[in-house]
Amino acid sequence: MTYVQDVYNQVVERNPHEPEFHQAVKEVLDSLEPVLDRHPEYQKAGILERLVEPERQIIFRVPWVDDTGKVQVNRGFRVQFNSAVGPYKGGLRFHPSVYLGIIKFLGFEQIFKNSLTGLPIGGGKGGSDFDPKGKSDNEVMRFCQSFMNELYRHISADIDVPAGDIGVGAREIGYLYGQYKKLTGLSHGVLTGKGLTYGGSLVRKEATGYGLVYFVEEMIREKGRSFSGSTVVISGSGNVAIYAAEKASQMGAKVVAMSDSTGYIYDQNGIDLQAVKLIKEVQRGRIKDYLNHHPEAEYGEGSIWNIRCDIALPCATQNELNEEDAKTLIANGCFAVAEGANMPCTPEAVHLFIGNKVMFGPGKAANAGGVATSALEMSQNSMRLPWSFEEVDTRLHTIMVNIYKEISRAAEEYGFKDNLVVGANIAGFTKVAEAMMAQGIV
Ligand code: NDP
Repeated sequence: MTYVQDVYNQVVERNPHEPEFHQAVKEVLDSLEPVLDRHPEYQKAGILERLVEPERQIIFRVPWVDDTGKVQVNRGFRVQFNSAVGPYKGGLRFHPSVYLGIIKFLGFEQIFKNSLTGLPIGGGKGGSDFDPKGKSDNEVMRFCQSFMNELYRHISADIDVPAGDIGVGAREIGYLYGQYKKLTGLSHGVLTGKGLTYGGSLVRKEATGYGLVYFVEEMIREKGRSFSGSTVVISGSGNVAIYAAEKASQMGAKVVAMSDSTGYIYDQNGIDLQAVKLIKEVQRGRIKDYLNHHPEAEYGEGSIWNIRCDIALPCATQNELNEEDAKTLIANGCFAVAEGANMPCTPEAVHLFIGNKVMFGPGKAANAGGVATSALEMSQNSMRLPWSFEEVDTRLHTIMVNIYKEISRAAEEYGFKDNLVVGANIAGFTKVAEAMMAQGIV
């Protein structure tokens, strides 16, 4: 049995009932054999065994009182996975599907993603099984305050800096930050994704979606393609999806479909993004409400990937695009797929894309623009100086182009030309491994 297989088997044995975590670990470890052959010192130093074990896992009770006066109890998590490169950094997810295995898969991915940004940030992730859907603003506020009543003792600007993710947007970050400040008296960059009036960065809201499109533009340009004139399908209609759609449209693409967890809308004239923003960012409604604005559009509840497109951008959630979907996309002539969400494509789907020469951008590279801009928010907070929109956007663009170049170079160097999955894993891993080697067995 190889070193890699041995470590993977240990992960499955020691972390039972966490299939998403196993999937994320397998995907990375499968790429690393050639690196470990070249660097036998990594095995000697137990790099993989240490990498798959979080430095710290915190699980806590989150009690709060709902609007009817009833006591509710949710479970909170923060997994501080790896701090070799810098303070733990990674979002908080509030969704009923959250359990330890989801937070660990996200935290593990985050280590390599953060390493790829070239900025000094380690990997972490957190969240709760709380569902903000259908809750009043006051209920969300009380939940966030209770969540922070425990979390504050584990985070700080130089220790661990959480941000948003599914179910955690500007409103939740505001309530979390307010409670942190109340408890500690500190006004510093302990959370990112803050509002612009209290230390947030311009472009952070747009960053993951914009960064995704910058990355894809670079990836497809190499093969003589462009967003200009292309038809695009984007799943989800949250933070990542909306701003991916905005930037793709600005670059001349036609985005014809978007979705939420209930269904999708198809508008052959191109999605009216102002309507989607109103429905999702202001009214907190369902994507079906789009028909009230555009009755000529179509609404469906099957797979959004049945819609023909040149470029597919899954931006909703993990394992939302499976083998069947991949076959359909390929048959319909889709030439590029990039993950705005974390691990949205199943391993079988990824395998099909790569085997059929569909250009494929893995999430840990393609959606790194969000965390990269969070790190830029941390820099501005430390300097106590805000940058202009153009300044942050230019830096984001440079970071995404560099990520593409670095992972395609790593893929080629190890004999996997054009396989960006392998390239991202190797490039992300190498920096973390070197930092861990330098710091001794800790
Ligand atoms: P949001 O909460 O803003 O939006 C999530 C979107 O995905 C909504 O449209 C939601 O629909 C849909 N969705 C969520 N769960 C499911 C599900 N189980 N099935 C189908 N659709 C679902 O989250 P974000 O846009 O921030 O995050 C989306 C993805 O991008 C996640 O994988 C996240 O980890 C990843 N990501 C986010 C970053 C960020 O900066 N925000 C950075 C990097 C990655 P509904 O409203 O019906 O639930």
